[in-house]
Amino acid sequence: MNKVAQQQRTIGIIGGMSWESTQTYYQLINQGVKRELGGLHSADLLIHSLDFAPIEALQSQNDWEAMAGILVESGLRLKRAGAQGQLIATNTMHKVAHEVQAATDLPLIHIAEATAKAIQEKGLTKVALLGTNFTMTEDFYKQRLVEAGLSVIVPEELARNEVHRIIYEELCQGKFTETARQRYVEIIEQLAEQGAQGVILGCTEIGLLIKQSDSPIPVFDTTAIHAKAAVEFLLTDANLG
Ligand code: GLU
Repeated sequence: MNKVAQQQRTIGIIGGMSWESTQTYYQLINQGVKRELGGLHSADLLIHSLDFAPIEALQSQNDWEAMAGILVESGLRLKRAGAQGQLIATNTMHKVAHEVQAATDLPLIHIAEATAKAIQEKGLTKVALLGTNFTMTEDFYKQRLVEAGLSVIVPEELARNEVHRIIYEELCQGKFTETARQRYVEIIEQLAEQGAQGVILGCTEIGLLIKQSDSPIPVFDTTAIHAKAAVEFLLTDANLG
């Protein structure tokens, strides 16, 4: 096979939310392309890494219109730089995915859709969802899972608030403690007792804290699933001549 002739599409990543997980995307997408193409191959990608502090402030104020504006601008910059497709490297910010896709008119790899597909492939029907309070309680994310025929449960309010707090005060700031890990494991165990057959790590930093070996039920790490979908996008229509 003439490896020189191989081509990839170019993907744009709207990242930085937080950069802790954007670096995992960078690593996983490159590893995936190398696995498929071998040798010195690496991913053809662009990253626009946003400053997360103003985004988090806007989240607290529930100003999704302003956040949509920031992410649309980011998507347009990536398009101008040559991106043929894009992904938003956070679950929560998929709340404005529709606006980004409409404004850029580029294919957008939706994290909840990719996750629903991965769960369906394993034949599960009832799953637990961990993420920020926005992701766990609002429809923009769960709706995609429900539309795929899945039934979704989330922790009760106190536990939800803890999961949310740990994401912003610890995981997004690069802090990974045994206490937080144990708390997440307890919450997953409770959800498994309520019938969850699997758990969605529906925040892109949770996979940095919780591994499959920590959980009594299968984990669906949205960062890994999303990165795998990005690799498929990059290599679709590739000239493997
Ligand atoms: N990265 C996290 C997520 O996947 C949370 C940070 C954010 O609010 O974007 O939802």
